[in-house]
Amino acid sequence: MDLNDHIEKILWTEQQISERVSELGSQITKDFKSGTIAPAIVGVATGAFLFTADLARKIHLPITVDFIRVESYGSGTVSNGRPTISFDLKLDVRGKHVILVEDIVDTGSTLSCLIDYMKTKGASSVSVCALLDKSARRKVHFELVGEGKYYSGFECPDNFVVGYGLDFDEVYRNLPYVGVLKPEIYQ
Ligand code: 5GP
Ligand code: MG
Ligand code: MG
Repeated sequence: MDLNDHIEKILWTEQQISERVSELGSQITKDFKSGTIAPAIVGVATGAFLFTADLARKIHLPITVDFIRVESYGSGTVSNGRPTISFDLKLDVRGKHVILVEDIVDTGSTLSCLIDYMKTKGASSVSVCALLDKSARRKVHFELVGEGKYYSGFECPDNFVVGYGLDFDEVYRNLPYVGVLKPEIYQ
């Protein structure tokens, strides 16, 4: 059984992802280096685990790294639209410049929920760094907090994608690239 056989098309190769992650890390380093408080990286589990690990190594500042888990999907390919936090932060983000690290922004409801949560926790700014953005599918408008910035790696077409952390039914996360899953796998 070869996972690669389940992929219809590779959208971004390991090399392309690595180059883009380096660029994002450099941009974040540049944007935050004059601040007195280094950013608090908050990866959104599980999808952003690889992206968070790679991005963190490209940010040359004394950042902290933490994870939060949000559940909105079940095992299908369509969000149920009601994200809930199912695993909380360990670190206190009060007064911190939070950078939420997401695998993909689709309807925007997950991020909207997380940004509100960081606000209630007293973050002084909330930025977002998403590897992929399906901006054409946005339904929920979200507003960054304070001086927060929006970073995104690639504009994603309206296909169900897997790999580099993204799953279908918890599988395919370990593919080193991002690709479109063959529809016969999930239909
Ligand atoms: P949103 O709340 O913006 O609708 O969805 C965000 C979450 O939905 C992402 O963090 C991701 O877990 C999931 N998601 C959205 N589109 C895709 C996709 O094409 N592939 C996978 N594997 N997950 C997706
Ligand atoms: Mg996610
Ligand atoms: Mg998922």
